[in-house]
Amino acid sequence: MGTLHAPDKINNVGITNLQNFIVMYEATQEEKEKLNQIYQKCLKCQKCPLGKTRTNTVFSAGIPNHKLMLIGEAPGYYEDMKGEPFVGKAGQLLDKIFASVGLSRQKDVYICNTLKCRPPDNRDPLPEEKEACREYLDAQIEILKPRIILLCGRVAVQSILGSAQGITKIRGKWFAGPNNSKMMPIFHPSYLLRNDSREKGSPKWLMWQDIQEIKRIYSQMD
Ligand code: SF4
Repeated sequence: MGTLHAPDKINNVGITNLQNFIVMYEATQEEKEKLNQIYQKCLKCQKCPLGKTRTNTVFSAGIPNHKLMLIGEAPGYYEDMKGEPFVGKAGQLLDKIFASVGLSRQKDVYICNTLKCRPPDNRDPLPEEKEACREYLDAQIEILKPRIILLCGRVAVQSILGSAQGITKIRGKWFAGPNNSKMMPIFHPSYLLRNDSREKGSPKWLMWQDIQEIKRIYSQMD
C-alpha cells in the first residue's frame, strides 16, 4: 500500500486545528439525537431489496460535525460485516490520506455512504436503490450542514452532482453544494490501491494535490 507524505509542520498545525475544531464544529447533542433517529430508521429499513441481503446497515463513522463530510459509494464486504464505512485496506489508505495533512478521519471527518446497505457482489447500486436510500443521506447533510463535502468515487459523484463526467475529469474541482457548502469529487481509495504509481500525474499524485487543496480551504474556515 502506498503512502502519502506531508511535512511534519503540517501535522503540527493539525493538532491546533483539532483543538479548535472540537469547540467550534462538533454537532450539538440535539443534532446527534436527530442523526440517531435516522440511524434507527435505517436499521429497520426495507425500502429496497438490499434490506433483505445486508448483514449490517452501514450508516456513518467519524465525528458528526459541521465542517467536513465525506460521502462514499456503498458498503463492500468488510463494511457490511462490520457495519462501518471504509474499513479494510481502502479505509487504511483513507486514514493515511487525511493524516498526510494533519487530519484524523476519526476526529475531524463525518463519513457516510450514498447507500446504507451492501449491493450483492459489490455491484454498482441500481438507480431505484439510490433513490430509495437518498432520504437518509439528505437527512445527514441537512442535519449537519457541513461546509466541505468530499464526494469519494464515481457513484457518489453521480448521485450528488448528477454528472456523467468521469471522476478523472472532475476530481479536484470545487462545486457549489447544499447550504452554501463547497463540494469536491476525489478518487476512491480502492481506485488508488489499484493504481500504485506515484509519478507526477498519476492518481496518487493527483490525490495528494487534492488533499492539500482541501486542507487549504479547511484551514481558512478556522
Ligand atoms: S439501501 Fe437504503 S433504502 Fe435500501 S434497505 Fe438499505 S437503508 Fe433502506
